[in-house]
Amino acid sequence: MAASTFGGIHDFFNSGTWLVVRNLTLFFLFVFWLAVGYWVYKDARRRIEDPWLVGMAVVLGLVPPYIGAFIYMLFRPPEYLEDARERQLEIRAMEQRLARRDLFCPVCRAEVDASYLVCPVCTTKLKQSCVSCKAPLEALWQICPYCETPVAAPPPLPSFEHGPTALRAPRRVQRGSE
Ligand SMILES: [Zn+2]
Ligand SMILES: [Zn+2]
Repeated sequence: MAASTFGGIHDFFNSGTWLVVRNLTLFFLFVFWLAVGYWVYKDARRRIEDPWLVGMAVVLGLVPPYIGAFIYMLFRPPEYLEDARERQLEIRAMEQRLARRDLFCPVCRAEVDASYLVCPVCTTKLKQSCVSCKAPLEALWQICPYCETPVAAPPPLPSFEHGPTALRAPRRVQRGSE
Protein backbone atom coordinates (compact mmCIF):
# COMPACT_ATOMS: atom_id res chain seq x y z
CA MET A 1 0.00 0.00 0.00
CA ALA A 2 2.74 2.39 1.03
CA ALA A 3 4.80 1.45 -1.95
CA SER A 4 1.90 2.11 -4.32
CA THR A 5 1.24 5.53 -2.71
CA PHE A 6 4.90 6.43 -3.06
CA GLY A 7 4.83 5.14 -6.59
CA GLY A 8 1.80 7.32 -7.28
CA ILE A 9 3.57 10.45 -5.99
CA HIS A 10 6.64 9.47 -7.98
CA ASP A 11 4.53 9.06 -11.09
CA PHE A 12 2.90 12.42 -10.48
CA PHE A 13 6.22 14.25 -10.24
CA ASN A 14 7.40 12.58 -13.40
CA SER A 15 4.20 13.27 -15.25
CA GLY A 16 3.67 16.04 -17.72
CA THR A 17 1.08 17.64 -15.42
CA TRP A 18 3.69 18.37 -12.77
CA LEU A 19 5.99 19.92 -15.36
CA VAL A 20 3.22 22.16 -16.59
CA VAL A 21 2.26 23.19 -13.06
CA ARG A 22 5.86 23.91 -12.15
CA ASN A 23 6.57 25.87 -15.32
CA LEU A 24 3.38 27.88 -15.00
CA THR A 25 4.23 28.72 -11.38
CA LEU A 26 7.73 29.84 -12.36
CA PHE A 27 6.31 31.82 -15.25
CA PHE A 28 3.84 33.64 -13.03
CA LEU A 29 6.50 34.33 -10.42
CA PHE A 30 8.68 35.78 -13.17
CA VAL A 31 5.87 37.93 -14.59
CA PHE A 32 4.93 39.12 -11.10
CA TRP A 33 8.58 39.96 -10.40
CA LEU A 34 8.74 42.09 -13.57
CA ALA A 35 5.41 43.71 -12.69
CA VAL A 36 6.69 44.62 -9.23
CA GLY A 37 9.79 46.15 -10.84
CA TYR A 38 7.62 48.15 -13.22
CA TRP A 39 5.42 49.33 -10.38
CA VAL A 40 8.52 50.52 -8.47
CA TYR A 41 9.67 52.36 -11.60
CA LYS A 42 6.31 54.11 -12.03
CA ASP A 43 6.02 55.01 -8.35
CA ALA A 44 9.62 56.23 -8.12
CA ARG A 45 9.17 58.45 -11.19
CA ARG A 46 6.26 60.20 -9.48
CA ARG A 47 8.17 60.74 -6.26
CA ILE A 48 11.86 61.17 -7.19
CA GLU A 49 13.22 63.82 -9.52
CA ASP A 50 16.78 62.51 -9.99
CA PRO A 51 16.81 59.82 -12.77
CA TRP A 52 19.79 58.11 -11.13
CA LEU A 53 17.88 57.68 -7.89
CA VAL A 54 14.89 56.38 -9.87
CA GLY A 55 17.19 53.81 -11.50
CA MET A 56 18.55 52.78 -8.12
CA ALA A 57 15.02 52.39 -6.77
CA VAL A 58 14.16 50.11 -9.71
CA VAL A 59 17.27 48.01 -9.12
CA LEU A 60 16.36 47.74 -5.45
CA GLY A 61 12.81 46.80 -6.44
CA LEU A 62 14.09 43.96 -8.63
CA VAL A 63 17.18 42.56 -7.02
CA PRO A 64 16.07 40.99 -3.82
CA PRO A 65 12.93 39.75 -5.62
CA TYR A 66 9.69 41.06 -4.00
CA ILE A 67 11.49 42.01 -0.78
CA GLY A 68 13.31 44.86 -2.54
CA ALA A 69 10.01 46.48 -3.49
CA PHE A 70 8.90 46.26 0.13
CA ILE A 71 12.15 47.92 1.26
CA TYR A 72 11.58 50.61 -1.37
CA MET A 73 8.10 51.27 0.02
CA LEU A 74 9.57 51.80 3.49
CA PHE A 75 12.08 54.40 2.32
CA ARG A 76 10.40 56.13 -0.61
CA PRO A 77 9.66 59.88 -0.37
CA PRO A 78 6.26 60.30 1.24
CA GLU A 79 4.95 62.85 -1.25
CA TYR A 80 4.36 62.94 -4.98
CA LEU A 81 6.46 65.53 -6.83
CA GLU A 82 3.29 66.92 -8.36
CA ASP A 83 1.75 67.57 -4.94
CA ALA A 84 4.94 69.15 -3.65
CA ARG A 85 5.07 71.48 -6.67
CA GLU A 86 1.42 72.40 -6.28
CA ARG A 87 1.91 73.21 -2.62
CA GLN A 88 4.90 75.42 -3.42
CA LEU A 89 2.86 77.32 -6.01
CA GLU A 90 0.05 77.80 -3.51
CA ILE A 91 2.45 79.14 -0.88
CA ARG A 92 4.00 81.52 -3.41
CA ALA A 93 0.59 82.80 -4.52
CA MET A 94 -0.40 83.33 -0.90
CA GLU A 95 2.80 85.27 -0.21
CA GLN A 96 2.19 87.46 -3.24
CA ARG A 97 -1.36 88.12 -2.11
CA LEU A 98 -0.12 89.13 1.34
CA ALA A 99 2.66 91.30 -0.09
CA ARG A 100 0.32 93.26 -2.33
CA ARG A 101 -2.36 93.85 0.35
CA ASP A 102 -4.80 94.93 -2.29
CA LEU A 103 -6.99 97.87 -1.55
CA PHE A 104 -10.45 98.01 -3.02
CA CYS A 105 -12.98 100.76 -3.47
CA PRO A 106 -15.63 100.17 -0.78
CA VAL A 107 -18.40 101.06 -3.20
CA CYS A 108 -17.57 99.44 -6.53
CA ARG A 109 -14.82 97.01 -5.41
CA ALA A 110 -12.43 98.32 -8.08
CA GLU A 111 -8.75 97.98 -7.23
CA VAL A 112 -7.39 101.27 -5.97
CA ASP A 113 -3.96 102.48 -5.01
CA ALA A 114 -3.07 103.70 -1.52
CA SER A 115 -2.34 107.12 -2.96
CA TYR A 116 -5.71 107.61 -4.68
CA LEU A 117 -7.94 110.38 -3.35
CA VAL A 118 -11.01 109.22 -5.22
CA CYS A 119 -11.99 105.95 -6.83
CA PRO A 120 -11.29 106.40 -10.55
CA VAL A 121 -14.14 104.08 -11.46
CA CYS A 122 -17.07 105.34 -9.41
CA THR A 123 -15.59 108.66 -8.16
CA THR A 124 -16.19 107.77 -4.51
CA LYS A 125 -14.10 109.96 -2.23
CA LEU A 126 -11.49 107.66 -0.67
CA LYS A 127 -9.14 110.03 1.09
CA GLN A 128 -8.66 113.60 2.04
CA SER A 129 -5.76 115.53 0.55
CA CYS A 130 -3.54 117.87 2.49
CA VAL A 131 -4.73 121.47 2.10
CA SER A 132 -1.18 122.70 1.67
CA CYS A 133 0.74 120.00 -0.32
CA LYS A 134 -2.17 117.98 -1.68
CA ALA A 135 -0.65 114.71 -0.46
CA PRO A 136 -3.18 111.95 0.24
CA LEU A 137 -3.77 111.61 3.95
CA GLU A 138 -4.63 108.50 5.90
CA ALA A 139 -7.88 108.63 7.76
CA LEU A 140 -6.33 108.69 11.25
CA TRP A 141 -3.60 111.23 10.60
CA GLN A 142 -3.84 114.42 12.62
CA ILE A 143 -1.04 116.17 10.77
CA CYS A 144 0.30 115.93 7.23
CA PRO A 145 3.59 113.99 7.47
CA TYR A 146 4.94 115.65 4.33
CA CYS A 147 4.49 119.36 5.15
CA GLU A 148 3.51 119.39 8.85
CA THR A 149 0.20 121.09 8.14
CA PRO A 150 -2.36 120.07 10.74
CA VAL A 151 -5.15 118.09 9.19
CA ALA A 152 -8.38 120.03 9.10
CA ALA A 153 -11.60 118.36 10.15
CA PRO A 154 -12.18 115.68 7.55
CA PRO A 155 -15.24 116.02 5.38
CA PRO A 156 -17.74 113.33 6.26
CA LEU A 157 -16.70 110.21 4.46
CA PRO A 158 -19.41 107.85 3.42
CA SER A 159 -19.83 105.31 6.16
CA PHE A 160 -19.08 101.78 5.07
CA GLU A 161 -20.49 99.69 7.83
CA HIS A 162 -20.10 96.52 5.84
CA GLY A 163 -17.16 97.69 3.79
CA PRO A 164 -13.55 96.56 4.04
CA THR A 165 -11.55 97.60 7.04
CA ALA A 166 -8.79 99.07 4.89
CA LEU A 167 -10.77 102.16 3.95
CA ARG A 168 -12.79 102.71 7.08
CA ALA A 169 -13.83 106.20 8.00
CA PRO A 170 -11.94 107.69 10.95
CA ARG A 171 -13.25 106.84 14.37
CA ARG A 172 -13.20 110.42 15.62
CA VAL A 173 -15.11 112.53 13.12
CA GLN A 174 -15.19 116.12 14.25
CA ARG A 175 -18.38 117.14 12.59
CA GLY A 176 -18.81 120.23 14.80
CA SER A 177 -15.86 122.20 13.47
CA GLU A 178 -16.77 122.05 9.79
ZN1 LIG B 1 -15.26 102.82 -6.81
ZN1 LIG C 1 0.87 118.37 3.38
